[in-house]
Amino acid sequence: MTVNPPGTAAGAGARLVPSPDWAREVERESAQPVSLCYQCQKCSGGCPLAFAMDVLPHRLIRYVQLGQKERVWQSRTVWLCAACRTCAARCPNGIDIAAVADVLKQQAMRRGLVAPEPSVQAFHQTFLSSLRSRGRMHELTMLLRFKLKAGFKGSELSQDLRLGLAMLRHGKLRLLPEGVRRTREIQALFARAQEGKSHGAV
Ligand code: SF4
Ligand code: SF4
Repeated sequence: MTVNPPGTAAGAGARLVPSPDWAREVERESAQPVSLCYQCQKCSGGCPLAFAMDVLPHRLIRYVQLGQKERVWQSRTVWLCAACRTCAARCPNGIDIAAVADVLKQQAMRRGLVAPEPSVQAFHQTFLSSLRSRGRMHELTMLLRFKLKAGFKGSELSQDLRLGLAMLRHGKLRLLPEGVRRTREIQALFARAQEGKSHGAV
């Protein structure tokens, strides 16, 4: 009889072997009680982005419980979650799926997996690197870096430029970046988070 190794997706004729170790890892990193999910589906019922997701939020949590890493890391849901936290407000056990999705994103990136939503991944990486370098977002730099990473599309370029100029005129974008006073502390926080993850990295 074929038995799929822990952490791999079960194919036709394969048995599903739950892998609780990974679920514990996700619980620790996200500080969310994933094991308490009992599939009531209230999260999916209220999620405003459920229509675009390939794996509904309650199912994502179930896959985590079962250690189905590939299904989870390859799902668009992890990248589409908008962190609105409607699920957390509705969940009888207070599970914040946005926090779980965040951890899953980081895990996928640490393994060098290509996200099914590359532009969301590019935005996520640019946002974090902007925050790490100055302790505060500078939208203009971040947007330029994001566009360089995600790739300029000819038709969007003139539209982006028009929008950018209009925002500058209305004072919605700052030309020069500002930082916070103790950026080193922010950078130390990032380093500590990275170090903590690499100790229990999956
Ligand atoms: S609302 Fe909470 S308990 Fe219910 S399925 Fe979603 S995560 Fe699980
Ligand atoms: S935080 Fe994410 S999963 Fe939860 S309701 Fe919002 S979009 Fe859906």
